[in-house]
Amino acid sequence: MEQTLSIIKPDAVAKNVVGKIIDRFESNNLRVAAIKKLCLTNEDAARFYAVHKERPFFNDLVKFMTSGAVVVLVLEGENAVAKNRELMGATNPKEAEKGTIRADFAESIDANAVHGSDSLENASIEIAFFFAKKEVA
Ligand code: GDP
Repeated sequence: MEQTLSIIKPDAVAKNVVGKIIDRFESNNLRVAAIKKLCLTNEDAARFYAVHKERPFFNDLVKFMTSGAVVVLVLEGENAVAKNRELMGATNPKEAEKGTIRADFAESIDANAVHGSDSLENASIEIAFFFAKKEVA
């Protein structure tokens, strides 16, 4: 059993498709082990995406992630990290496979509906970023 972190980004929250996205997870044997809705501060977003701080899109990314509320989830299941990445689709929704979350709900590489941890190691760091141990059940 693995756990991974998912963020339903401000574009998808604004479109009111939180439930539809969670249904993709639940329909594919990923269980919601933790969930909360919040607004990231600039500092939160910059710290969360610190690996990208030298990239040209970093400021746009922080601006976008703080532009509205997000829903943060811990997903649990077999191969949860890879399965979530598969359900999300490619970073650029225009390149995302048909039937993936990004193909169906996202508009652009900036506003691409969801985040998902890219490794088991990062999943545990990212889960700890948002949730106390007792909040994951
Ligand atoms: P992910 O793991 O598929 O989310 O992709 P990355 O970890 O590589 O990038 C993190 C986030 O930065 C992506 O989800 C995008 O929102 C954003 N991003 C990545 N590449 C670009 C880019 O070339 N331009 C812009 N504007 N945003 C990008």
